Amino acid sequence: LVEKYKIVKLASQNAKSQASILIIYTGGTFGMVYDDDGHLIPFDFERVMDKIPVLSKLGLSITIYSFVQPVDSSNMTITDWQDISKAIYENYDQFDGFVVLHGTDTMAYSASAVSFMLENISKPVIFTGAQIPIGATRSDARENLIAALEIASRKSAGRPIVQEVCIYFNYKLLRGNRAQKIRSSVFGAFGSENYPILAEAGVDISFNEVAIAQPQPAELRFLPDMDPNIAILSLYPGMPDQLVDAVLDMKGIKGLVLESFGSGNVMTHGYLLERLTDAIQSGVVVLNVSQCPGGRVTQGRYETSKQLDSIGVISGNDITTEAAIIKMMHLLANETLLTAIKAKLSTSMRGEMTPS
Ligand code: ASP
Repeated sequence: LVEKYKIVKLASQNAKSQASILIIYTGGTFGMVYDDDGHLIPFDFERVMDKIPVLSKLGLSITIYSFVQPVDSSNMTITDWQDISKAIYENYDQFDGFVVLHGTDTMAYSASAVSFMLENISKPVIFTGAQIPIGATRSDARENLIAALEIASRKSAGRPIVQEVCIYFNYKLLRGNRAQKIRSSVFGAFGSENYPILAEAGVDISFNEVAIAQPQPAELRFLPDMDPNIAILSLYPGMPDQLVDAVLDMKGIKGLVLESFGSGNVMTHGYLLERLTDAIQSGVVVLNVSQCPGGRVTQGRYETSKQLDSIGVISGNDITTEAAIIKMMHLLANETLLTAIKAKLSTSMRGEMTPS
């Protein structure tokens, strides 16, 4: 932690506080400023904090860890996901909840990654960020942060109301591994087509308790390993066979996320199916995910998906591409048996999909 983070300061150390929260600041638009050439670049959190004096008036004990070098989330790496997860893991008992300030571009990947790296999580981990930097007059940063802090501190009957990794953005709380960035120029940047909204912030915060995970108490496990040897093949009409070759010939490939049409359909002309069959027979795991943000893969519904089951393509059901990539990286690194990897891809491990 010492190298990656600096502990900025205690924004408010209040003996009578309702809850203690760890904020992890990684960068993103939230704290960006314009450089001399007019480009947005990440900014130091110490100076960001000056813009939110209200932090010390929330009745919360807040500790802030900041990446020593905040990043635009397009530059997030597996190591960064591990560092965020580790910071939560190592501080898990000291805090009631965690808020991760993160760029919106790859927030859905990071939230998915943390949900897989931390098994048996039963405290709130709320990712949030902003579309307009905190220093700008019309910024959404302040509202997003304050509501995320409130959600991370809420309890009912002595237990946190939210006990999972989420994204809070523009008045909505979404399950992290169900969320996708679907808009880049309005405040409502995130959607979760296949899973209900977990909470809405209006005059009150109303929680959708039946949709929020209710984990059984179990010891938190930190599973940082990720295998990056996976590829994604997003189909389009007119796609040349050479593209299939280029992707499947990737050196060291172990897994493929196949982004198919509609309810999981693929072109049956050309030699896609032939190459997929060969790849699967040589041990590559292929997971079928729909290009449609809403709905699910149903292999065999159409003639154009009927061979997929028999050649061993696994249906991703209603998983997002983001969560599919993370789940694949996680399983390839943490499971040795191909049968176990395939079985887990077909079940929900962290609430990331609805099995058929
Ligand atoms: N490029 C920024 C990032 O993802 C965008 C944002 O934060 O909204 O870091």
